Amino acid sequence: MTPRARVVVIGAGIGGLTAAALLARDGVHVTVVEANPYPGGSAATFFHKSYRFDAGATVAAGFQETGAHTLVGDILGLRWNTRAKDPAWVVHLPDRRITLTRDLSDIARQFPRSAGFWTEQRKIADLTWVMSSAGLPFPPADPKEALHLAKIGWQFFPRDMRLLPFAFSTVGQWMNRHQLSKDKGFLRFIDAQLLISAQTTSPFVNALYGATALDLPRQGVFQIQGGIGELSQQLARKINSLGGDVLFRHSVSRVVVGNALAKGVSVHQGKRGGKEIKFPADLVIANTTPWSLDSLLGPASPQELRSEIRHRRQTQGAFVLHIGLRDEALPSDLPEHHQIICDYDSPLEEGNSLFLSISPAWDSSRAPPGCRAVTVSTHTRVQPWWDAKSENKSSYQARKTIYAESMIEAIDRVIPGFKTAAELVLPGTPLTYQFYTQRHKGMVGGFPQTSLLKARGPRTGIPNLLLVGDSIFPGQSTAAVTLGAIRVAKLASRRLRQSASESGGGDWRQQ
Ligand SMILES: Cc1cc2nc3c(=O)[nH]c(=O)nc-3n(C[C@H](O)[C@H](O)[C@H](O)COP(=O)(O)OP(=O)(O)OC[C@H]3O[C@@H](n4cnc5c(N)ncnc54)[C@H](O)[C@@H]3O)c2cc1C
Repeated sequence: MTPRARVVVIGAGIGGLTAAALLARDGVHVTVVEANPYPGGSAATFFHKSYRFDAGATVAAGFQETGAHTLVGDILGLRWNTRAKDPAWVVHLPDRRITLTRDLSDIARQFPRSAGFWTEQRKIADLTWVMSSAGLPFPPADPKEALHLAKIGWQFFPRDMRLLPFAFSTVGQWMNRHQLSKDKGFLRFIDAQLLISAQTTSPFVNALYGATALDLPRQGVFQIQGGIGELSQQLARKINSLGGDVLFRHSVSRVVVGNALAKGVSVHQGKRGGKEIKFPADLVIANTTPWSLDSLLGPASPQELRSEIRHRRQTQGAFVLHIGLRDEALPSDLPEHHQIICDYDSPLEEGNSLFLSISPAWDSSRAPPGCRAVTVSTHTRVQPWWDAKSENKSSYQARKTIYAESMIEAIDRVIPGFKTAAELVLPGTPLTYQFYTQRHKGMVGGFPQTSLLKARGPRTGIPNLLLVGDSIFPGQSTAAVTLGAIRVAKLASRRLRQSASESGGGDWRQQ
């Protein structure tokens, strides 16, 4: 009898847990190793002084009928505890306020000249959603994935031909075609939406990706009882119930490689050393950034990954505030999600564009009575935070205070009374994210979605070592990462079957 295939997953983020749960359901023995005492990474919910704060992600999407979380929930028999939320969020531009409802009526009212743009956007997005729910393994990692892509292309032919002009242009060029690029308000509005979903703005975002990302309010946004971290909690419990292990407070310190294959991982208890344990594996999945994986491989890092690391530019980080808020000062009909753009002329990062989420009033598990748990974040460059920290402790602290104060002032301008209602403020910088997610330099949100030709897949240069999470296509968000993880689980299954049959062990699912 060949023993069950063993897969080790480094990290209990949404990507690692989803891939692990799908493999466990397929009969694989999975062990997920997580450095934190709780799962979720950037989409975790953590306890602090009677509050449950969302660590990063707050907007839950992908629960519509064809959504990624629905798809995985159906496969795994999970029922997500969600409530649909319309409007999705409110955008506060310096001179106006736009409410993003599912029918996009406020956008139509405020930007009547953009009607043609949205008609086109809807058509593209309708098609890309059905195509992506059929699986889009891009860029293909093996002949089977290439064949699958070709089949999807064929299945949707000739409708998919309409997508070609968008696949090779940017949102900026698409807006130009509708003579919308000179409309300052519309441009800022679109750029702010793209920054949070595609990590860059209209001159750079691929139009196909952008059209899908802009569809979020129309597809529907949801609230999850207990916070977004409940997604990963449920996935971790599912893995356990399928016979897999999720080890918290354990860190992978090395991926062991021999004969150009991953042989397993070295694990330490806690984050800073402790007893070393070795976990052998037939396949390893890294829920990490390529940088972190490279350092876990050390000298065994393959040329392909090494060269990627050398050429990649640093990506965005986040500065975040977790705020405990007395809700007596808030209007009772205040929406939970707000995007605040402070001025028209500065770049959107570094506090000029904030995303603020308030825990729902009905969810008493999130905050003490009469209070709400708030997470607010802004995009920031990571390096200046590391420079400030290495300069001295006080310049790092001063930088934190400047960011925190200016963000709270900006919120207070659109939600009067917010500042005085804040009873607890806990800031987080890229250094915090690095500590709690193990992501290189605290860079979050994956890669900017520019040219499709630059999209990164799960390959690492070692056949039985795969990457999962928001560094791979289709990028950031719990829903996108879930789509990537479904694909990685399939690829991993295939690789395990191949190696089992090459070594004469047959298909492990028949054991
Ligand atoms: C501020 C912010 C706001 C966001 N807003 C939204 C939003 O509103 N909606 C949305 O859908 N998405 C949002 N996102 C993006 C979303 O959170 C991420 O794209 C997604 O959660 C990333 O999942 P991942 O699988 O890449 O794992 P990650 O979140 O990167 O988690 C990786 C996990 O692996 C663990 N790990 C890594 N290395 C090791 C190791 N060596 N040993 C042990 N454990 C290890 C880490 O501790 C971590 O728990 C936001 C992100 C941020 C930062």
